[in-house]
Amino acid sequence: MRQSKLFTKTRREAPSDEVAKNAQLLVRAGYIHKEMSGVYSYLPLGLRVLNNIVQIIREEMNAIGGQELIMTALQDKELWSRTDRWDDEKVDNWFKTSFKSGGETGLAITHEEPLTRIMTEHISSYRDLPVYAYQFQNKFRNELRAKSGIMRGKEFLMKDLYSFSKDEAEHKAFYDKAREAYMRVFSRVGIGAQTYVTFASGGIFSEFSEEFQTVSEAGEDTIYIDEGKRIAVNKEVCTDETLAKLGLERNNLVEKKAIEAGNIFSLGTRFSEPLGLSYKDEAGAEKSVVMGSYGIGPTRLMGIIVEILADEKGLVWPEGVAPFVYHLVSLGHDGDEISKTADALYTDLAQKGISVLYDDRDLRAGEKFAESDLLGIPHRIVVGKDAVATGEFEVVNRATGAVEKMPHAKLVG
Ligand code: ATP
Ligand code: MG
Repeated sequence: MRQSKLFTKTRREAPSDEVAKNAQLLVRAGYIHKEMSGVYSYLPLGLRVLNNIVQIIREEMNAIGGQELIMTALQDKELWSRTDRWDDEKVDNWFKTSFKSGGETGLAITHEEPLTRIMTEHISSYRDLPVYAYQFQNKFRNELRAKSGIMRGKEFLMKDLYSFSKDEAEHKAFYDKAREAYMRVFSRVGIGAQTYVTFASGGIFSEFSEEFQTVSEAGEDTIYIDEGKRIAVNKEVCTDETLAKLGLERNNLVEKKAIEAGNIFSLGTRFSEPLGLSYKDEAGAEKSVVMGSYGIGPTRLMGIIVEILADEKGLVWPEGVAPFVYHLVSLGHDGDEISKTADALYTDLAQKGISVLYDDRDLRAGEKFAESDLLGIPHRIVVGKDAVATGEFEVVNRATGAVEKMPHAKLVG
């Protein structure tokens, strides 16, 4: 990709009403556009990062047997009334609207109800179980707080997986696998070291739900970490009784601010019973399906990565999620030797399928370097006079600042 063709531009200033570091930097670097408070669009660079995060999650969900589908955002009032989650008194963040033909609908806050109903058409026998289905889909929540940038959108992407199992044992085996898969996701996107399995409220069948909390000053939650055991407890459930149950000691806990990156729940028969999702077991007895739900926010993850890794110069992307792996910065002008050398390297890199953004614009070096720092692409290849003279290119690591000299053949090879 040639930067001269990229329509997004960097900006000196973030919108004055934007208080979150993640959104400020992402707007300035041209990754996202702020439409309204808590409402963002993803521009080409931002979409590349988001797609990389999505792909990592998809691979990990497929690896534990997940099957991808996609459901509609429009929700059926009658269905949600059956589980008592339609009333604004019960769930206070619905965006609701009405059909011209009459009747109300809502924009999906989550998808337990519609998927459970779909499964009533596909599950009737023990032979049909277990099933694990997931989607990447925009959720809509009328969030009151809007100071966390893309970490708290009113419309945001969620990966939600739902498990359908015969009994508690089968459910538990999958739930444990899902926890491991989540931790692999956080490692692969570069926040594994800062992310803790955290006991929290919201458990329906089991006593707790498990959150994946990433330590950050920008977090809205408070957690208590046992570093030795690498687990944490959310403040909302951190009582002496809870600690005793979990075998934790208050003296070993450290209080930190954290951001919820993901959340997994054992649902038991909370949804299968009211919605009539049952199966015949081996003995012919009718049983309710045992469910779990597993949520993770790719857009929130993108925000978390920025909060944790960005520095005073701008964004810093880990290689696994970066929009490009290399930023080729030419310091040449109008077809001079430097430009020709940079062009040749770009052509060879592109031909090899190496992910590279080529800054081919005629700008001052200082301006280009500052912008390159802001964009946060992991490796910067500099093409200046020295490169033409020696045939070796300076490759600067964005995260560490380390500089390496590499010849054309090594870069392309
Ligand atoms: P929070 O407590 O932060 O409001 P939640 O517990 O309501 O989040 P869940 O219903 O557990 O969120 O959703 C699953 C995942 O979706 C969360 O762990 C988070 O990664 C993501 N998520 C939730 N709300 C938002 C939002 N408003 N914007 C972006 N991502 C979100
Ligand atoms: Mg949650």
